[in-house]
Amino acid sequence: MKQSMTFIPTLREVPADADIKSHQLLLRAGYMRQNASGIYSYLPLASIVLRKIEQIVREEMNRAGSAELLMPAMQQAELWQESGRWYTYGPELMRMKDRHSREFALGATHEEVITSLVRDEVKSYKRLPLNLYQIQSKFRDEQRPRFGLLRGREFIMKDAYSFHASFDSLDEVYEKMFQAYSNIFSRCGLNFRAVIADSGAMGGKDTHEFMVLSDVGEDTIAYSDTSQYAANIEMAPVINKYEKSSEAVHELEKVETPNQKTIEEVASYLNTPKEKLIKSLLFKADEKFVLVLVRGDHEVNDIKIKNLFGASVVELASIEETAQAIGVVPGYVGPVGVSSDVEVVADIAVQAIVNGVCGANEVNYHYTGVNIERDAHISQFADVRFIEEGDLSPDGQGVIQFAKGIEVGHVFKLGTRYSEAMNATYLDENGRAQPMIMGCYGIGVSRTLAAIVEQYNDEKGIVWPSAVAPFHVHLISANAKNDDQAQLSEKIYSELTEAGYEVLYDDRNERAGVKFADSDLIGIPVRVVIGKQAAEGIVEVKIRKTGEGMEVAASELNATIQNLLS
Ligand code: ATP
Ligand code: MG
Repeated sequence: MKQSMTFIPTLREVPADADIKSHQLLLRAGYMRQNASGIYSYLPLASIVLRKIEQIVREEMNRAGSAELLMPAMQQAELWQESGRWYTYGPELMRMKDRHSREFALGATHEEVITSLVRDEVKSYKRLPLNLYQIQSKFRDEQRPRFGLLRGREFIMKDAYSFHASFDSLDEVYEKMFQAYSNIFSRCGLNFRAVIADSGAMGGKDTHEFMVLSDVGEDTIAYSDTSQYAANIEMAPVINKYEKSSEAVHELEKVETPNQKTIEEVASYLNTPKEKLIKSLLFKADEKFVLVLVRGDHEVNDIKIKNLFGASVVELASIEETAQAIGVVPGYVGPVGVSSDVEVVADIAVQAIVNGVCGANEVNYHYTGVNIERDAHISQFADVRFIEEGDLSPDGQGVIQFAKGIEVGHVFKLGTRYSEAMNATYLDENGRAQPMIMGCYGIGVSRTLAAIVEQYNDEKGIVWPSAVAPFHVHLISANAKNDDQAQLSEKIYSELTEAGYEVLYDDRNERAGVKFADSDLIGIPVRVVIGKQAAEGIVEVKIRKTGEGMEVAASELNATIQNLLS
């Protein structure tokens, strides 16, 4: 591809509204332009990279036994009403009407469309399992579109859906898709972890998210420093055991703590370590009040509360609700003497506190000498806190560390959530109708592109891993007006192209400095410069990643490049 004939509008300045590397570089290196918030045009270079990522995705999907199809982006409201998500998906779903006032949605995801498609065509267990995928633009009116392609409102997704007659069959395909995802992200050159995730409101069981490790990631991953264990922090169970200290047990005593409300204030006022404080927070799990106790240096994990009570919504009670249920405002709440209408759940670590401190349910007072099993009615001790760095890894190997991650993929056992709601059944061997068992599997293709740039860049620009680079070779004629250089450039361009290399040829009438700076920004792995020694048939080869350069005879160029790219 000749650079004069394509469209790569590079920028010298860092765009003001782009605050992460991938967003800045994709704009600066001329890969994309914003059209509206969270909506982008992919320019020629980005189109090529997207095709390469998609090619990897297709190869691995096909190998995993998934067949490609393409469903409509415009979806009838009736399908979403059948699944119930028309009413629960909220404003993220882009809705519209056709000229007959019939309602539609732009596809945010395709469970409804595919379930109705398969429901209408597949009647017998003999046709199952079935695994289908597509690559397509998705639309989500995100509350905060940001970070360029990482969180867009229109973005490219690969989504796959599988249908089964048994959970064993789902497990088998899930395993294959999991492996395919690992292959895809490895082939894209990404440093990633597959983490155990929350199955949330979807009601499924197993679910893993594929996270690219990056400081700009929105999710926190808890991973073991020695094993493969990794989980979303909400999901990681705490397995630490706690020993009670052997100190003499004190009497419960009410002490004045004027205006001391926070853990820090109370700890310092009473000169007590935070580990001896019992943090007491009132939650509402659906309609039920739950007083949750954790150690002063720990944080309550509301997902664990949610799972413990099988609640659909868990939130901190308001000041008014707390005053009503406990009789005191937050800051002085504690488990001693609370009404039996309030269930009290304590974290395992609280059980081991000897002579602790908690709120006295009276403004300006706390209790000291609290020994929880003696002084309060605890309905259960459970793991209800967030895991922390330094905790034991839940698989028993090593200790936990935290990292930030960008979710690029998600595999999910849906079960019968959609098939039951939408009546997608098949006839089993005994002729009985059964709901199909489903799995779904998504990859953010455009997000993956940005995640690669996030991991592959330096101060000068993008540094593509070769599997997804837009071209193999950036051929630059330093001075396009010089006849020797122009001739040799043309010759090398056709030779390399014929040899099967993808070559971007900078034939523009620009200063060499401009061409080099653009080339650094664009990030193609190998650069070949045709300069002053063109007449002698000598060219310069430079590796983008290391900056290492060498002079090579034009006749040896092919072999040199082959070597560098392999
Ligand atoms: P997130 O938590 O980041 O919003 P999600 O859980 O909503 O993601 P899924 O519904 O599982 O995402 O979609 C599958 C994949 O699509 C995600 O793993 C992610 O890579 C990608 N994706 C989701 N939302 C966006 C978006 N707004 N922009 C770009 N990619 C996205
Ligand atoms: Mg989302």
